[in-house]
Amino acid sequence: MTDIADLYQELILDHNARPRNNGTLTPCSHQAEGYNPLCGDTLTLYLQVEGDIIRDVKFVGSGCAISTASTSLMTTALKGKTLAQAESLYRAFHELVTSESPRADEALLGKLMAFAGVREFPSRVKCATLAWHTLEAALHARKEPVSTE
Ligand code: ZN
Repeated sequence: MTDIADLYQELILDHNARPRNNGTLTPCSHQAEGYNPLCGDTLTLYLQVEGDIIRDVKFVGSGCAISTASTSLMTTALKGKTLAQAESLYRAFHELVTSESPRADEALLGKLMAFAGVREFPSRVKCATLAWHTLEAALHARKEPVSTE
């Protein structure tokens, strides 16, 4: 019998070893930088949004396995989504990794459920959410770089 936790760990290790959507996107409609000083994770996120749809997402950065895998899985989840769907994902993911008793929407979160265990490691929560905070900054066009502090 395969433990679901093992599957999730494999998914994170795989996305850390082979990050999806790694690279720059030029031109792009939205861009933001994120930094998690607690761990040293850095990230630049690029989005091409047309109308209401996220057509493409790419990122460059360096960070720990959790932050790299989280960014990689986020980019795969966002492609083709509407901005409203991206907001829903952001809220669901944030609740998944921060709430004591998350109402995890597995149908919505899909592979992002791999990060459910992160809430037991408070120091890693910022690694897992950096990509999402950077996404928020990019979509809301904040000028200053994002820091999780
Ligand atoms: Zn980290």
